[in-house]
Amino acid sequence: MGISTSGQMISRAFGARVRLVLFFVFTWLGVVLLLAFLLNEGRREAERKAPSDALGVTSLLEARLAATMRRLQGNLEHLAVSLPRDAFKLAEVGRYREAVVNELELFSGQFPEVSGFRVMDAAGSLLYASGVALETSGFAERSYFNAPAVQSGNALYFSEVITDKLSGRTFLFVIQPVRDAHGGLLGLVAAPLDLDVLAKIFETINVGSKGVVAIWRADDGRQILRRPAVPDQVNQVLANNPLYRRIESGEKLGTMRAPAMLDGLDRVYAFQRIADYPLYVAGGLAVDDYLAEWRQTLWVAAVSALLLFLSLSLVLIRLLRAENEEEVTARKLSQSEARYRMLAENSHDVIWTLDIPSRRYTYVSPSITDMCGYLPEDVLGQSIDARLTPESASRLARDIDQRLRRIAAGDKAASVVVSELEQVCKDGEVISTEVVSSYLQDADGVAHTILGITRNVSERKAAELALRETNRQLHARIEEIGRLQVALQELAVRDSLTGLYNRRYLDETLEREVSRARREGNPLALVMLDIDYFKRVNDTYGHQVGDEALRMLATTLLADVRTEDVACRYGGEEFLILLPNMPLETAIQRAEAWRQAIEELSVALGNFHITFTISLGVAAYPEHGKTPDDLTRCADQALYRAKHEGRNQVSVFSA
Ligand code: GH3
Ligand code: MG
Ligand code: MG
Repeated sequence: MGISTSGQMISRAFGARVRLVLFFVFTWLGVVLLLAFLLNEGRREAERKAPSDALGVTSLLEARLAATMRRLQGNLEHLAVSLPRDAFKLAEVGRYREAVVNELELFSGQFPEVSGFRVMDAAGSLLYASGVALETSGFAERSYFNAPAVQSGNALYFSEVITDKLSGRTFLFVIQPVRDAHGGLLGLVAAPLDLDVLAKIFETINVGSKGVVAIWRADDGRQILRRPAVPDQVNQVLANNPLYRRIESGEKLGTMRAPAMLDGLDRVYAFQRIADYPLYVAGGLAVDDYLAEWRQTLWVAAVSALLLFLSLSLVLIRLLRAENEEEVTARKLSQSEARYRMLAENSHDVIWTLDIPSRRYTYVSPSITDMCGYLPEDVLGQSIDARLTPESASRLARDIDQRLRRIAAGDKAASVVVSELEQVCKDGEVISTEVVSSYLQDADGVAHTILGITRNVSERKAAELALRETNRQLHARIEEIGRLQVALQELAVRDSLTGLYNRRYLDETLEREVSRARREGNPLALVMLDIDYFKRVNDTYGHQVGDEALRMLATTLLADVRTEDVACRYGGEEFLILLPNMPLETAIQRAEAWRQAIEELSVALGNFHITFTISLGVAAYPEHGKTPDDLTRCADQALYRAKHEGRNQVSVFSA
């Protein structure tokens, strides 16, 4: 692998990794931004809604209180006008009590927050009363008589908050001055508003756990009622109350956000004047409350974003790790591929792959050119049998079919095979090749590719053939030598003229046979013979005719001896025949038979025939001698006697 390719690979891998990280970072940032946007929208929506919600609260209370006030004012005005003027005189109370109290009772009970009516004279003494009896009666009310509104005006007047000493309940007296025809103060009609009942009504309004509702005086800014209650603040003016300042400046209703002056909580307030009465209601929703839901959502979103971040990080780490592994694997793969390619391309053998379904070459190494003359591209895509001799092609086709069947049947040994195939080169030359084929299988065990290595073995085969031929010739030579050796051995023990054994051989054999005869207790005979007057034959017809006569004699003897007999040329024209295991009598008969045979023999020589005779001496073991020398001498002596007694006869040794 070159430096530039590995550099490209690294930068490609690096680029892929950066892209992966960026993708995950942007995905996460996108989700976070979307969440942030939605959360911001949610918060803005909550902030936007809070003032109108607060205003909703004050509107509800205003409507309720305004309705109460109007009815109460109506009732008080009616009483102020309709009560007889004399009824305000302390002295007349006894006379009017029943009628006035009845009248007062009529108005009581219209509103739960109105706890009855009472009538007082101009001095502040309680004249008539309906509804609850209050411990404060007559005392607290009296303190308002000096108020300028009561002394001079006709308008409805509101007392400060008064606490009933018995029950502890708090009340706000709504007071209507009653005047005579000249404008003099006759007395008062008053109704206590039960602030605890109002507080109960407040409690039915949902302003959240930290919300607040309150009624304030619009004329002097004092507090009348607050939920949750702050008892010390009742009837007190709250310094720098921004709501009061806006009411004071003439606003009928409005909203604002401010930290509460009493408890410091951040709230959104709404305020609303109760009709034309010198009262206003205020409702405050705590930011903590109205944002509580949003804050919960914020938490859920934050946790979700965190979880998303963690899970994306995990996935990212996994992917990076997988990418890393993949890269390492790819690098290893490419290295090993390069290694194998180098091997394939530098090998003398041809390495190839063949797609099994199509039976076509998918790769052929360049060494094909050296082997066959073809270029790899000549062979690529070609059918497997295109370059084989017909015999090899059909043998290979059969073998592939058979191996595919065996592999399909699970035979592991079938997947590698060595075969010899004859290939046809580009120049038409047929070469012998040895092919090692491996059947590559997929995960299901189905063979899809043959990976083959083809080696040219023509030279090896030629060498083998030559070796075999040399071997054959060598064997022939060795056989020949063996035969020659046997012949040579024969020659060494045979006489060249007659083919009979020579004297040396006889000496050895006689020694052995005498020993054996002695050992086994068998007889043995020796016959010595000599041609009669042979000198004359030589002298008359020549030496060659003599030789021919010698050969004829030998032939005659050989035709009539047993295999165990040893016939030998003992000297020039002297012969000795060893007859193992033969008794003397039989030997004499054999000698006589030879004598007759030679006597009847005639050697053809041109137009005439030559005849000759032989003399024979017989000696036998154990009768005549016990050793080879003794026996030979005895036979010789017997021969000598045969010559002496006239020739052409057989003589037996006698001492
Ligand atoms: P006899 O034995 O009957 O007493 O008479 P003879 O003439 O045979 O006498 P002898 O046995 O002494 O003669 C031997 C002769 O045999 C001498 C020699 O010329 C001849 N002779 C020996 N060897 C050969 C041979 O190899 N070839 C031929 N042609 N003649 C041989
Ligand atoms: Mg002789
Ligand atoms: Mg002789």
